[in-house]
Amino acid sequence: MRIRNWSVAAIFLFAGCTSTPPEKAVINDAATALGGADKIQAVNTLTISGSGENLNLGQNSSPDAPTPILKVSEYQRSIDFAGKRSRLEQVRTATVGNTAPAKQILCLDGDAAFNVNAAGMATRASDQVAKDRRAEIYHHPIGAIRAALAQGAIVANPRKEGNADVVDITTADGAKLTLYVDSQTKLPSKVTTMTDNIGGPLGDMLVETSFANYTDTAGLKLPTRLTTKNDKYTVADIQVSANVVNGNTGDLSAPADVKSAQAPPAAAPAMITVEEVGKGLWYLTGQSHHSVLVEFADHLVLIETPQHEVRSAAVVAKAKELRPNKPIKYVINTHHHFDHSGGIRTAIAEGATIITHEGNKAFIEAMASRPHTMTPDALSNSPKSAVVETVSDKRVLKDSTRTVEIYHMAGSAHSATMLMVYFPVERLIGEADVYNPPALPAANAPPPPVNAPPPVFPFVANFVENVHKLGLKVDRIMPIHGRIVPFKDAEAAAKTSSSD
Ligand SMILES: [Zn+2]
Repeated sequence: MRIRNWSVAAIFLFAGCTSTPPEKAVINDAATALGGADKIQAVNTLTISGSGENLNLGQNSSPDAPTPILKVSEYQRSIDFAGKRSRLEQVRTATVGNTAPAKQILCLDGDAAFNVNAAGMATRASDQVAKDRRAEIYHHPIGAIRAALAQGAIVANPRKEGNADVVDITTADGAKLTLYVDSQTKLPSKVTTMTDNIGGPLGDMLVETSFANYTDTAGLKLPTRLTTKNDKYTVADIQVSANVVNGNTGDLSAPADVKSAQAPPAAAPAMITVEEVGKGLWYLTGQSHHSVLVEFADHLVLIETPQHEVRSAAVVAKAKELRPNKPIKYVINTHHHFDHSGGIRTAIAEGATIITHEGNKAFIEAMASRPHTMTPDALSNSPKSAVVETVSDKRVLKDSTRTVEIYHMAGSAHSATMLMVYFPVERLIGEADVYNPPALPAANAPPPPVNAPPPVFPFVANFVENVHKLGLKVDRIMPIHGRIVPFKDAEAAAKTSSSD
C-alpha cells in the first residue's frame, strides 16, 4: 500500500513537472505568437499613431440610434509599460452639433491621471479616471501579456469561448482583466475589464478592446486596428498607421504640482442653489446641470435628475427640505442622454414615476435593473422596477393649483426623444441642451472683439419653431444648462445660427 501510494504521488509530481497548466499555456502561446516573451519584456515604450473615430457614448438621438461620431485625427498614444505612464493626444471633430475640432491630451503617471488643456495647463483627474487609464495599458496585447508574465500576477480560469481561449488575469497590483486569444493564430483578439459608468446610468460597465490587422514591427506582431466598446456601444475605432517600439516618447511624467495635488472625487460634491421663480416653482442650480421643482396641491414634480446619484440625491434632498410634507410623485426626464438620465435610478429609488418620451421607456426600464456593484446606489441597495409613463406629443399635469404642459420637441437634431416643459401661467418654458444661454460676462471683463462671430446654437432654430408652431406664449426660458433668459434671446440666436 505504501509503495502504491508513493507511485500515485510520483505520477502527479511527474505530471506537474512536465506539462504546462492550461492557463499558462494560453499566455505562453500568445507571447510566442506575438514574437516571444523576451521581445515583449523588452518593450519599454510603445507609441501608436493613427486616426479613426470616437463615438460619443450616451449622446445618440434615441436610445437605439447610432452613437454620434467624432472624427479622430492626429491620434498619438505613448505608453511606458513599466512606468505605468501614458499620454494620448488626439484631435476630435464632431459630425453633429459643434463641429469645431478639439484637441484632447489625456495622461497618466502612475497613480495620477491628468488632462492638459489647450493653453497647456495640466489638471489632475479623479482616482477613478486614473484606474481606468491604468487599465487602458492592459487594453493592448503588449500590456496584457507583460502583465500576465510579471512576477506576482495570477492567471486563472482557462476556458474556451467561441473561437478564443480565455483567461482571467489579476495583475501584480491587483487589477483584473480578461484576455481572449484566437485559438488558431494564438494572437490576442481582445481584452476586457470592468469599470463604473460615472456620469451615466449604466453602473457596472464592461470595457472591451478588440485587436485586429496584426503587422510585423521590430520583430513583433502588433495590431493596427484597435476597437473599444463600453458596454454594447463602440466608443473608439482607431486605424494604426505606425507602431514605434522604444522610440522617443517625450516626457510622460506628471508636472510636480499635478502629482502633489489631491485627486478630485469622481463625481463633484453637489452644490444646490435655490432660485424661487414663482409661487411653488424653484430653479435648482449651482453646477452644470439644473433641475426644476414644481409644487402641486398634494405632491411635487421634479424636472430632471441629472448626472449621477451624487447630484440627483442632493436635488431630491433639497426638494424635501423645501416642501417636507409632499412626496415627489413624478420626475420628468427631458431626454435619455447619459448626463440627463444619470440620476434616473435615484428618482426610481425615491418611488417617483418617471415621465419621459415614449421612445425612452424601454431604456429607463433597462437602467433600473442594471447591476451597480462597483459603486452601489440607493436602487441597488433597495431594488425596485421603474414605473414609467410616456409622452408621445403632449401630456398635461393639472390640479386645482397648477397646470404644467409637457411637449415632444419634434424634429430636434439633438435628440429625437426630447421633451420640453411649459408653464402657461408663468409663461416659462423648460428645455435641455437646445439653447444653453451663454454666461454673462464678468463685471471687469474686456469687451468682446468687434468682429467676433456670434456663438452658434445648432439646435435652437428647431426649438423656437416648435414653440411658435404650438402657439405657446413664452416670455422666458428656464434651461437645464445656463440661466433664465428672455425667450427673445433664443429667437435672436435662431436667426444667427444655422439649424443644421
Ligand atoms: Zn443632450
